[in-house]
Amino acid sequence: MFEAPILDPVRFTTLEEVVEGRVPVRDLERLQSVLHSTGGEIRYRVSGSQTPEGHPALSLHVEGALDLTCQRCMAGMPFDLAVDSRIVMFKDEEALPDLEEEVEGTDAIVQPEKLNIAELVEDEVLLSLPLVPSHPDGACRADGETEAALAKEHPFASLQKLKQST
Ligand SMILES: [Zn+2]
Repeated sequence: MFEAPILDPVRFTTLEEVVEGRVPVRDLERLQSVLHSTGGEIRYRVSGSQTPEGHPALSLHVEGALDLTCQRCMAGMPFDLAVDSRIVMFKDEEALPDLEEEVEGTDAIVQPEKLNIAELVEDEVLLSLPLVPSHPDGACRADGETEAALAKEHPFASLQKLKQST
């Protein structure tokens, strides 16, 4: 885990404080398994506020460029990270809104004792990654013959299916 402040959520949101920083990609420990190379850095900004109902809330912005590993050809795949999200904190499980009441793009969580900014930022990055990173169809590294062949055969294969179904 990289170095970032650990804060009191009540104070941070009441005073509407802001923390921002930069993290070298190689310091994002939980990300290493999906990375192809670890150069570059990400930038983050977390700001505290309160909802009109008086719940402590956080706005997160994380951005940067990552080099993910394509799960088809195992080559590098550039990925532009740009996430904006909002977290609203509730005092306990009971107070959490029902799933259907949750606002799109807003996460409702139980207020932690301490706000670990590094953890928040790393979570946010992980959540924003594609489930299975891969190049667009046909754009994979061509040294795998099968890969190229598959890409070429594909349109015919689907034509074939069409023919058979009529
Ligand atoms: Zn690929």
